[in-house]
Amino acid sequence: MKKITIAIDGFSSCGKSTMAKSLARAIEYIYIDSGAMYRAVTLFCLQNNLFDGEKLNIDSLEKIIGDIRINFRLNHESGLPDTYLNDTNVEKEIRSMEVSSKVSIVSAVNFVRKAMVSIQKELGKAKGIVMDGRDIGTVVFPNAELKIFVTAQPKIRAQRRLDELRSKGDNVTSFEQVLKNLEERDHLDQTRKESPLKKADDAIILDNSFITIDQQMQWLLDRFNEVIHSS
Ligand code: C5P
Repeated sequence: MKKITIAIDGFSSCGKSTMAKSLARAIEYIYIDSGAMYRAVTLFCLQNNLFDGEKLNIDSLEKIIGDIRINFRLNHESGLPDTYLNDTNVEKEIRSMEVSSKVSIVSAVNFVRKAMVSIQKELGKAKGIVMDGRDIGTVVFPNAELKIFVTAQPKIRAQRRLDELRSKGDNVTSFEQVLKNLEERDHLDQTRKESPLKKADDAIILDNSFITIDQQMQWLLDRFNEVIHSS
């Protein structure tokens, strides 16, 4: 069967990663979480004290960006790729609120985007890939055969993200903090100069506010099958 490229973009905490992972598993494609890469660069900036409050020292980052190596290695327990930063598994650290609150600043930097997009394009060369992010259908894989743009109501997204944080043992972050963080990220992601979050003209919109995971999966498989059986 022919292999295609699937781009899943959309707002923060819409469940993009969950859906992309399940879809990739069901159709036996590789899954890549592009947000994890921007999170790993952000962690690197924090580890190297490149933030002064909300201000990122862009000049210093430019000098050391070449030292950042990001890759993915299969976690045999979860069956999913874990994110590695310079050979250290950072899958857990990159999901912290500290990283979440700074990642949109880092991901707006043009040379960071250039470096990440080039890795992403390389990872997708052989097709048979599901990648989720903000600019996958517009910049990384503009020729992807299937593009989905996911959205959901902000409060529903905040609750989902909070549930995820709680399940990972975070009992301190509040609903309001999560909501504020994701509204700020939506705003920064949509208004930044470099590759802002926007729907590709040929992407199909999926609003998953009120559908179950199973319904969503069926919807995705239907779209996938339509593309696979066309032409
Ligand atoms: O998908 P996730 O919420 O983990 O992404 C974290 C952040 O990384 C986003 O808020 C956005 O600023 C950035 N990002 C991006 N382009 C992508 C994926 C993520 O700018 N393709």
